[in-house]
Amino acid sequence: MEEYDVAVIGGGLLGCFALRALARHRVRALLLEAREDVCSEISRANTAIVYAGYDMKPGSLKAAMTVRAARSFETLCRELDVRYSQCGAVMVCFGENGYQRLQKKLRQGAENGVAGLKLLSGREVLELEPNLSPNVRAGLYAPQCGTAIPWELGLAAAGNAIANGGKIRLNAAVTDIRDSGGGYVVTYGNQRLSAKSVINCAGMNAAKISEMAFAPKVRIVRTAGNYYVLDTKAGAFVKHVVFHEPEKKGKGLTLVPSVGGNILIGPTERKYDCSDDYSVTSEDLRQLRELVFEVIPSLPMEHIIRSFGAVRPNPYYVENGGLSEKSINDFCVLENAPNFVSLIGVKTPGMTCSAELGRHVADKIAAYLGAARNGNFNPAQRRSAHRAQELTFDERRQLVAANPAYGSIACRCREVSEGEIIEAIRGPLGAATVDGVKRRTGAGMGRCQGGFCQQRVIEILARERGLSKASVTKNGGKSYILRS
Ligand SMILES: Cc1cc2nc3c(=O)[nH]c(=O)nc-3n(C[C@H](O)[C@H](O)[C@H](O)COP(=O)(O)OP(=O)(O)OC[C@H]3O[C@@H](n4cnc5c(N)ncnc54)[C@H](O)[C@@H]3O)c2cc1C
Repeated sequence: MEEYDVAVIGGGLLGCFALRALARHRVRALLLEAREDVCSEISRANTAIVYAGYDMKPGSLKAAMTVRAARSFETLCRELDVRYSQCGAVMVCFGENGYQRLQKKLRQGAENGVAGLKLLSGREVLELEPNLSPNVRAGLYAPQCGTAIPWELGLAAAGNAIANGGKIRLNAAVTDIRDSGGGYVVTYGNQRLSAKSVINCAGMNAAKISEMAFAPKVRIVRTAGNYYVLDTKAGAFVKHVVFHEPEKKGKGLTLVPSVGGNILIGPTERKYDCSDDYSVTSEDLRQLRELVFEVIPSLPMEHIIRSFGAVRPNPYYVENGGLSEKSINDFCVLENAPNFVSLIGVKTPGMTCSAELGRHVADKIAAYLGAARNGNFNPAQRRSAHRAQELTFDERRQLVAANPAYGSIACRCREVSEGEIIEAIRGPLGAATVDGVKRRTGAGMGRCQGGFCQQRVIEILARERGLSKASVTKNGGKSYILRS
């Protein structure tokens, strides 16, 4: 049986950053991911905002981590060579109730130590965001806010962890964990390994993983939300992240000018327990359109290129055989045992705090193991693949001269070449699905949403993996996966 110091379960943002943080110590660590790629679940469908920290309750772990994370996010992205836009955010309101809440958030932000917060008049808001409804009453400006691409971040963290000695096993769903006295025997597929300690980052399944070895303490209730994505043609319509604080209680609108140049609208919030993953409902989309009409009526909705669903993991304490009345508001770091730590139900701002949370749990486990620091740890990660769109004309011409595959455009909307797709498949954590290629290269993310390039990507994937095109099949409606 293989032996490790740490088994990390789950390869979402949190698992990838936990593995990276473990590499700062001299430990043998392995990450087990159930899916065919990392960042394929919650970390794939979210709002992608880097929060400043004025929303969080003062004194909470969430508040402290968010403020620290926002301050250092640019450095983190530079280290990992991922795109980040510190575009700032403005939270807007249209009446007195919203205004009261903005003032409360301003005070809360000051208490949390958020830098640069400023209350703006309606006129000042319109100077920042001229396309908003002229009825806007006031705004809270937060320059620390920004936006990044969650899977780009997760892939880079995973790549950096591997470069520093961490290991990742995909298609490795953990089905059983047994206490072996001082450690654990972890079963995945038809294999087993022994680990002195476990970090549980299994997202939606984190409570189930914890209950494989311990009595239930926290359970997850799923709720859902929907988004619209607008094409890059509408990208300049919003310059900052816009949060809308509604007059009545409930979920307002969020608008995000994404790093890729699209505008993200949403999410809605379905209140009931929802097991049907990632569905989109006409009711949610209607709500979004109504909110757009109130907040930014001239937004060119004819540029909608897709809608998608997301699922929130809401953690509740298990009490008297049932669940606590209220969900747990702070990040839930459950120390099941000194050598078993679970991150359960981490939702917003989990992306912002992924590096902080990863480090938090990795340091706990390293302290338990008495592990020495890894003096060779290198936090810097250079993106191994080209992004031809970012090259100058001359650089591109040289690339094509050296390898004509870079001159063969597969995705016309995003101008992604065959050469880039091949790199994405062959890379150290190479794509095995059409979705994986999409997230690594952007092919399929443009206006036609893969209408032109999907068949081409399937052909390249099949050829690179030495399989027939017919073996690239649809995987539960989520992505095309190669089946050998
Ligand atoms: C709707 C929504 C919007 C959000 N918006 C923001 C935002 O704007 N800004 C922000 O900072 N944060 C945001 N977040 C929070 C952020 O997206 C999450 O905190 C973060 O992505 C959680 O990552 P994770 O690693 O816990 O989960 P996941 O990404 O789901 O990763 C868990 C992994 O565990 C794997 N797994 C499950 N079971 C097993 C098993 N048995 N064996 C092995 N592997 C297993 C899964 O396949 C999955 O890959 C948002 C969250 C939601 C839901």
